Amino acid sequence: MKVKVAVNGYGTIGKRIANAVMLQDDMELIGVSKVTPDFTALLAQKRGIKIYTNKQKEFREAGIETQGNIEDMVKVADVIIDATPNGVGATYKELYKSNGKKAIFQGGEKASVAEVSFNSLANYKQALGKSFVRVVSCNTTALTRVISTLDKSFGVTKIRASIIRRGSDINEVKKGPLDSINFDPPKSPSHHAEDVKTILPNLDIFSMAVAVPSPLMHVHVIYGELREKVKSDDIIEVLSSTNRIVTLSAEEMGIEGTGNLFELARELGRHRSDMPEVIVIEDSIKTFGNEFSLIYTVHQESIVVPENIDAIRAITGIERDAIKSIEKTDKSLGIMKGKLKA
Ligand code: NAD
Repeated sequence: MKVKVAVNGYGTIGKRIANAVMLQDDMELIGVSKVTPDFTALLAQKRGIKIYTNKQKEFREAGIETQGNIEDMVKVADVIIDATPNGVGATYKELYKSNGKKAIFQGGEKASVAEVSFNSLANYKQALGKSFVRVVSCNTTALTRVISTLDKSFGVTKIRASIIRRGSDINEVKKGPLDSINFDPPKSPSHHAEDVKTILPNLDIFSMAVAVPSPLMHVHVIYGELREKVKSDDIIEVLSSTNRIVTLSAEEMGIEGTGNLFELARELGRHRSDMPEVIVIEDSIKTFGNEFSLIYTVHQESIVVPENIDAIRAITGIERDAIKSIEKTDKSLGIMKGKLKA
C-alpha cells in the first residue's frame, strides 16, 4: 500500500517535495495546502494536485476547486510534510499530534520540534519509526552530506566553515541584500555549526556566514582536518562515489561561478533549474598534512527534497535500509553522483 503524503505549505520547498512525492511508486500525494489563490495554486490544480485551504471562499471565487481545510487534509494523510515558513511549522505540531499523524518539519524550525534532526547519509536509521522528524536546512544538509562522507572514510577531526549565503530565493521579490554583503550574523559562530551537531554531536566545527546579493546558490568554503594524511585525489574519489555529490573541475568545464552551474542545470533540462546535488569544485581541494581545503555549492531551493523523500520512508518504516531508499529516491528524481566531465 502506498503512503499517503500531504504537503502543508506549497512554497519554494513544498512544491518541489510535492512533485518528488508524485514520482515515487511507494507514495501518493493526497494534496497540498495553499494560503493564497495565486498562479501557483492555479498551476497546481492544472497538474492535478488536490488543494486544501482555510480560505475556501476566496479560492472558489478565483475558480480554484478545493477539497476542504487544512485539518481535513491532515485527517486523510499518513504523513504530513510541513513546509510552512520558519517557525510556523511548530504551530501545527498539535494538529498533527492530535490526529495521530506523523510529520516531517523543515530546517527553519527549532531542533526541539522533532525527535530527531535528519540527514539521509548520516543518520537515516535514527528516524525509523519516529513520529516527528526535522530535515535540517539547506546549508546543514550540504555540510552534513560532505562531512559525514569524509568522516566515514578518513575520520574528520575539525571543520572550519565559511558560509556564503544567497541573499534571497528567486520568488522572494522583496528580500535582499541588493547592494551589500551582510554579516549574517555578525556574531560568530553562525547557527550552522550547532545545527550540524544536532546530527554529528561529537564534531569539532565552527562556522561563520555572510549573505550576498545573489539568489542562485550558497557557496561553502571549508578548511578541515582529518585523522589521516590523504591526497586531494583520495578526497575527490570518496566524494564522487557518494550519492547526491558531484565533483567537477571548474577549470576544465569552463565554470567560473554559480551562474554557470545554474546554466548547467538548465542545459541538463532540470525541472525548475534544480540542482539537488552538492557540487564540489575539484580544483579547490588541497591537502597540507592532515588538513584540507574544499569549496562546494548548495542549491538551496532543491537540496533538501531527496532527504524529505527518504525521511518519509524512514518515519513510516516502509524502507529500513538507508542506501536502498537513497538509491530509489535518486533514480526517481534523476539525481547524479560521480565526476562530471565536459
Ligand atoms: P516559502 O515562503 O517559499 O513557502 C512557505 C509556504 O507556506 C508559502 O506558500 C506560504 O504561503 C505558506 N504558508 C504561510 N503560512 C502558512 C500557514 N499558516 N499554513 C499553511 N501554509 C502557510 O518558504 P520555503 O522557503 O519553502 O521554506 C519552508 C521551510 O523550508 C522553512 O522551514 C525553511 O527554513 C525551510 N528551507 C528553506 C530553504 C530555502 O532556501 N528556501 C531551504 C531549505 C529549507
